[in-house]
Order: sequence, then structure tokens, then C-alpha cells
Amino acid sequence: MRLALVLLWLGAAAACGPGRGFTNRPGPRHRLYPLVFGQHVPNISEDNGRASGPPEGRIIRDDEKFKDLVPNYNPDIDFKDDEGTGADRLMTQRCKEKLNTLAISVMNQWPGVRLRVIEGWDEEGSHLEHSLHYEGRAVDVTTSDRDRSKYGMLARLAYEAGFDWVFYESRSYIHCSVRTESSSGMGAGCFPGDAVVHTPEGARDIGTLRIGDRVLAADDSGKMVYSEVVTFIDRDPNATRRFIEITAENGVAITATPSHLILLAAADGWREAFAGDVRPGDVLLTRGTGVVMRPSRVTHTRPVHKRGVYAPLTKTGTVIVDDALASCYAVVSSHSLAHAAMAPLRWAAGWSSAESPRGVHWYASALYYVGDAVLPSSYSYH
Ligand SMILES: [Zn+2]
Repeated sequence: MRLALVLLWLGAAAACGPGRGFTNRPGPRHRLYPLVFGQHVPNISEDNGRASGPPEGRIIRDDEKFKDLVPNYNPDIDFKDDEGTGADRLMTQRCKEKLNTLAISVMNQWPGVRLRVIEGWDEEGSHLEHSLHYEGRAVDVTTSDRDRSKYGMLARLAYEAGFDWVFYESRSYIHCSVRTESSSGMGAGCFPGDAVVHTPEGARDIGTLRIGDRVLAADDSGKMVYSEVVTFIDRDPNATRRFIEITAENGVAITATPSHLILLAAADGWREAFAGDVRPGDVLLTRGTGVVMRPSRVTHTRPVHKRGVYAPLTKTGTVIVDDALASCYAVVSSHSLAHAAMAPLRWAAGWSSAESPRGVHWYASALYYVGDAVLPSSYSYH
């Protein structure tokens, strides 16, 4: 299926929102400057804990840790594979996510050009002693056209895509690396398994929802409507997470992960805030009786641990959960930009082959790491 993906880098024009707080980098609300040869970002050594962190030891095929490496079969990435073993496709999950994000950025930055990986996991000892290539935590990349004048910007895009350390190491490639899985730990935003949604037939646990069901949500103007579930950005009945429970004066209490966007009442409709940033005095939009929602002031918030993580994506991009209005999006701070950027996925009905896939949809996951610097431009909305 054709996936129309023409996204523009917005830079400073990105919509405002609450502080990020869920990534440790300042951007991407700034212009994207290419790196110069020899430069690395951040400007600290790769093994620094605020960059990719120290090496944790080589992974070899017979190793227990070998199962932590996952193959990347993304058809939008060229793999050089000059070893002929497929080793360049093996990497940690985090590395894979960043690479998939970068692949989207490259296609958007230079139409017709793709990301090319010339080195991934190294089992042959061809790097320096403490190289993260031995752990599947590093890739060396170029563009598919091998146009060296693009490499400085490629390095910048790699950093914006979420690689933890990016080095313009050679005139002929960019080295990118990531933290270990255990030291990263940022998940997509979602609701717990006992969260309640409303369908035309009545109230249900979010865990019973299926693709194609219609749930109570809000349209662009803020009126309550039923909207179809087009996919699940995240769905895992067994995962346990830390959530924030937000309680309002009228007794409504919504529970979401701290990085999930809640839609709060504002003079011009709503404004978005990360659940973890909602404070007493903010105003939730709660389920009313007709089509109009009822604003109610937040009285308190508290952290809770719960089982099950669900993030349904509806056509409107919103969902009323536990009687309060939330965005279907997380991590990126702008609901409207996330909604626009996810349009290819929302309109590609049936794009996801599995009825109820488990885990984070890779496209959504990629966009989360691109952050709010993307906006689609080439398709009409409605
Ligand atoms: Zn490298």
C-alpha cells in the first residue's frame, strides 16, 4: 500500500506546548544545521552517560545477549552487507527504532534518496577495541546516492531522529550510536487495561476494544462524536507501567502514562499537556450528556502502577477515556502536529495486517522520536 509521506521539517515553527521533559535534548525547535567533518553531537565523548554511555561487552553469536539483537528488514533502508552475513541488519531495538526514524527523515529531506547502512553489528573485530558496533548499538550510514555533500545534514538528521551520539567520523560515512535498552526506557504513551471507553453500545474496558470499533471522542471543534479505532499505537495486556492519575472536581479521574497528551480546556477549544505536567487548577474536558463536554478543574494528581498498556488510534486522533478527553498521541508535545503526521496511518485502513498487534506500531514509534518537527504537506485532510 502506498504510504504518502511527505513531511516538512518545521524547525522554529513547531507549535508551542509544555516543556518536553521526556527526552534529554533541547530540540528540535531550532534550525537544523549540518555537522561539520570531525564534529560530534552531543559535544561529549560517546561513552559519557549523557551520550550513548559505556560499552557493556561484545555480543557474539553464542552469547545469551545475542537474542537482544533484532534484524532490521525495513525496505526503505539499503543495507550494504559487504560481509555477506546479514550482520549489518542486526542491532538493538533502540538502534532499530532510531534508524527507522532516520529513514523517514532522509526520504523527506531528499525525495528519491534513501538511507544506506554500511556497517551495523560487527562480529569480525574490525573496529577499535571498545566500539559499540560489537554490541549492535552503532551503525555507520550514508545516503543511497553517496553524495558526500549531504553527510553533514545526514548527521544532524540522525541526531534529531534520536540517536544518542552522532559523529561525522569519516568523509565517507556518519557513525551513530545509542544507549543500552535498560538505560533508555522511554515507552509510548498509553492507558491502563482497566481504563473505560464508551461505544454506542455502552461503557467498556479499553482492553476489549478492537480495530473498527467506534468509541466516544471529540472532533476538531470539540464536540463529542463516535470515532473509529483504526489501529493500536501500543497494545500489551501484560506490561506494567507507571501511570499518572488525574482527578477533577466532578469526580472524573483519568489515568495515563506521564508522556501521554491530555487535552485540557482552553479559550480557543483545548490545549495539550503531558499527563505528567498536568497540575491542580488545569481544566479537564469531561464527558457530558449531549455533544458538549463539561469542563472540570483538576484537584490532584498521583502516580499509580497498573497493568496493561493500550493506545488506540482513532480517526479523530482523540479519545474519551475514564470520562475525560485525551489525545491518542504521546511523547511529541503537539497534538495537532502528531495528528497530521499520523494521517497516512489513519487513512491507510487495513495497513496493519495484524488484527490486534502487540507493542508499539513502528511508524508511530518512529514519529515519536522525530518529535514535533514534522508536518505533512502533500495530502488534503477530509
Ligand atoms: Zn561506526
